[in-house]
Amino acid sequence: MAESEFDLIRQFFADATPARDDVSLGIGDDCALLQVPVGKELAVSMDTLVEGRHFVAGADPEALGHKALAVNLSDLAAMGAEPAWVTLALTLPNADTGWLAAFMRGFSRLAAEYDVDLVGGDTTRGPLSITVQVHGFVAPGSALRRAGARPGDRLLVSGTLGDASLALAQLQSGSSAPDPALQQQLDRPAPRVTLGRLLAGRASAAIDISDGLIGDLRHICAASGVGARIDLARLPLSDAVRQACDNGDWRHPLAGGDDYELLFSVAKAKVADLLADCRKAGHAIQEIGVLVDEQGIVLVYPDGHESLETPDGFDHFRS
Ligand code: ADP
Ligand code: MG
Repeated sequence: MAESEFDLIRQFFADATPARDDVSLGIGDDCALLQVPVGKELAVSMDTLVEGRHFVAGADPEALGHKALAVNLSDLAAMGAEPAWVTLALTLPNADTGWLAAFMRGFSRLAAEYDVDLVGGDTTRGPLSITVQVHGFVAPGSALRRAGARPGDRLLVSGTLGDASLALAQLQSGSSAPDPALQQQLDRPAPRVTLGRLLAGRASAAIDISDGLIGDLRHICAASGVGARIDLARLPLSDAVRQACDNGDWRHPLAGGDDYELLFSVAKAKVADLLADCRKAGHAIQEIGVLVDEQGIVLVYPDGHESLETPDGFDHFRS
């Protein structure tokens, strides 16, 4: 491919005019110039999606554009931060302007929804790979870390669990097209940004669920030095996932990836107020368990039997 073709791709980004007034200089120079509000901390996170590993070859570019940004906004949400800016590094096999236009439609629509400005990036040629870095603000001391959960704190989760995982399983089995509602969760997860901001300074710990409930809960437990008991009867599940669980297959809500819901702990005395505020703001959250002194994660099944998931014992959930 001639470099001039790639110049066309680079040109694609040149026209973006910043919408936010904290962007002194956006795309077009060697660096962007950005103004962090006085008295705020800057929260920064980056995630890469690689073809063949995080998405299949030929995946819908518009959905990819959405997801590449959504998974990053989800990290800001899990920190309780307010999104502001984003940079985008694209490695593209060829100068396919149709692909890029569709990718940027998905990306830009979500960026506009959260008032996030694309302020720079890099474009190179190579196997398809997408790296996004997000930047957000949080009041000092109010960021939601993985450490901070204490025994007795209640464990809560947003949305429903396991939908993306079930959609992926349905796709991979190839026997039938995935349920559209589940596929939506897989392709276009909604980052829980406004919930994260509501939790900032109120939850004792938080994480976004990207690798499955148990795996991500283990991160909170390890960072906070606690264990957990989860009441499986209380897990928020869609009808389709509930049906799989009723048939004894708990892998989707417990170990399925790509949920991008928030998992967080709250001091017992603060739970009622938080539930009321979330209801008022339209956020579906559900208490699913409690943090305890003893290490390990105990799963309490609906029939009352318990199983201990030790750090190396949950691998049997992994497909
Ligand atoms: P340089 O050689 O100085 O790195 P580039 O040609 O890579 O310049 O980029 C020119 C401008 O376009 C820069 O402001 C850069 O941030 C922006 N840019 C390049 N690729 C992207 C991209 N994928 N997304 C957003 N901005 C981009
Ligand atoms: Mg560059």
